Amino acid sequence: MSLVVVGSVAYDGVETPHGKVDRMLGGAATYIGVAAAYFAPVKIVAVVGDDFAGEDLDFLHSRGMDLAGMERVPGGKTFFWQGVYSADMNDRATLRTDLNVFADFNPRLPEAYRSAPYLFLGNIQPALQKSVRAQMPRVKLTGGDTMNYWIQDFRGQLLDTLKEWDFLLINDGEARQLSGESNLRRAAAKILEMGPHTLVIKRGEYGAVLFRQGCHFMAPGYLLEDVFDPTGAGDSFAGGFIGYLAGRGVDPRDGAVDFAELRRAVIYGSVMGSFCCEQFGVDRFRTLTREEIEARYKEFQSCTAF
Ligand code: AMP
Repeated sequence: MSLVVVGSVAYDGVETPHGKVDRMLGGAATYIGVAAAYFAPVKIVAVVGDDFAGEDLDFLHSRGMDLAGMERVPGGKTFFWQGVYSADMNDRATLRTDLNVFADFNPRLPEAYRSAPYLFLGNIQPALQKSVRAQMPRVKLTGGDTMNYWIQDFRGQLLDTLKEWDFLLINDGEARQLSGESNLRRAAAKILEMGPHTLVIKRGEYGAVLFRQGCHFMAPGYLLEDVFDPTGAGDSFAGGFIGYLAGRGVDPRDGAVDFAELRRAVIYGSVMGSFCCEQFGVDRFRTLTREEIEARYKEFQSCTAF
């Protein structure tokens, strides 16, 4: 069943110990959409400038994505982000963020998007996330992510937005910041009182923990021999997670979602995040097949069975 993905479509400049790329296709909605499209039909809501290259458009089209909601601003420039990674690639510094057309992003959903049952709200201003949710009155499963900036400076707006979400996906630092608790288990308990009935806390190379009221599930990170570029890994995780749930047609009733399906979704998230790191930018997804995804999913099963 189809999935609407909202967020940045960008150009990124990235430097890791393995190399440097000055400008390549990136953006949270790009990674989420590309990863999710392996599992379910994806409809993108984003904004780009008229510098957005035809070959990048072709790539997104080649994934079967609906781009009717991707606005192109005449005379505008596409969002640009530049970052550099530490030697162990566990930390990164942002060197430049040029919002460009993204500064005035005011997502309006095409009519054909409004009846989609699944919605993933990428990292944008919480009030905009809320306005998108309001345009989809029949949505079955809504969730998304956020970042330190919104947690710190737009807290009230964020808390108001979260009330309507089924799930939240954030990293451990953000979970601590949002909850004010340094202990992750206590942090999760507090966040689960803010609205979402399902919480996924991503822990970088160490995997992720799925929390629901009274239970949790721990998914390891996949041990890659070489990490070339972690950019987009978190977003690809999100794409695998929501894409799997949309593809399965998981339908929460009274907030109850099959916990086994959620566990599988977290593993597909880890699988997609791990593939993302194997090459620069979205390059690994240019060749990745569904068979490779299933093989790695099985590897996860055999590595964790006891
Ligand atoms: P991740 O590595 O999963 O955190 O995702 C990195 C992607 O997020 C890059 O492709 C960036 O273009 C995009 N990005 C970076 N900063 C922002 C921002 N402030 N708002 C939206 N997207 C961003």
